[in-house]
Amino acid sequence: MEDEDISHHYDNSHRAFLQAFMARGTMTFNQAQPILAAIFTAHDENEHKKGNSDEEPEVTRPEQVTREDFESYVSAVSAAISPFDMEIRSITHQVSKERVYSLINMTSDPMTQLATLRSAEEMAFVRRVIDAMFDRYNSPRMEVLCLDGMQANKLRTAPRNEDGESGNGNGAGENGSQAVGSLKGLKSSEVEQVLRGLVDEGWFERSRAGFYSLSARALTELRQWLVDAYNDPEAGDGEWQRVKFCEACREIVTVGQRCAERDCCIRLHDICQEAFWRTRKERVCPRCSTGWTGKNFVGERAVTETEAYQRGRRRSGRGGGRSSLVEDIMDGGEDEDEDEE
Ligand SMILES: [Zn+2]
Ligand SMILES: [Zn+2]
Repeated sequence: MEDEDISHHYDNSHRAFLQAFMARGTMTFNQAQPILAAIFTAHDENEHKKGNSDEEPEVTRPEQVTREDFESYVSAVSAAISPFDMEIRSITHQVSKERVYSLINMTSDPMTQLATLRSAEEMAFVRRVIDAMFDRYNSPRMEVLCLDGMQANKLRTAPRNEDGESGNGNGAGENGSQAVGSLKGLKSSEVEQVLRGLVDEGWFERSRAGFYSLSARALTELRQWLVDAYNDPEAGDGEWQRVKFCEACREIVTVGQRCAERDCCIRLHDICQEAFWRTRKERVCPRCSTGWTGKNFVGERAVTETEAYQRGRRRSGRGGGRSSLVEDIMDGGEDEDEDEE
């Protein structure tokens, strides 16, 4: 923290930065560099035009924008928005390790924010997708916590009222429950559009293998909501829960490593594990002492690292039949047939 009162320096360049931030929802340093470079360049030109500076206006290149510049803009903007119950929070991305800054609205719950600009039909679909991530595709057998486009597409209509309303079981939610019966569902083209929108707004991420998962922003904003919706508050300490936290950094793990013991709840991010083991004599689970394999995965690798998936890929090449393969592996009742062949 600098001692300087940053509010004195709030000018048009900060407003422009805030606008860019609001349009994106999230920002990393790398994403901010070209934005701030453009803002600095325009600011310089303006000063020159107004006659405030005799020197020729300079063009700022993205790589000239420093981390300090970025942090000073983040903190100036934070101060400016706090009277409006907005806040900037940051979280380390589980995979890229980049720091992701999210603009958070403190007054409305995240589901309300997600619902802005979305119809009741679309929101019901979003809820079904999140339910699928945290409930259906997240079991002690397989913690995938994501799903591919084909699986999402199957969620375009609400399940028929046979097993109750929205989603299955715990996929709780007073906040999202519309009159489910009156909703007809989405068309495939609309599903694609909603998914693309969620990725563009920074709620979902789409991996190279085609899996959709919650983004760093969503995990920051939905943290409490996810725990309330999917975890059992009565469960004993150490019992398997749907939402689990990294033993090292205490953030939610949706991509990472798990204890080889199915019912044990110890998880580590890939990016956290090295430092975690460095301070320990043995690579064993800190709770149950099972040897830590580093090959029991949380996230899409729970599917893509299975022998069945690898074999299926070799057989069908890229594309063709891959998606139903994913579904077979994720829905398959039997164990992963790792030792087969
Ligand atoms: Zn971690
Ligand atoms: Zn364990």
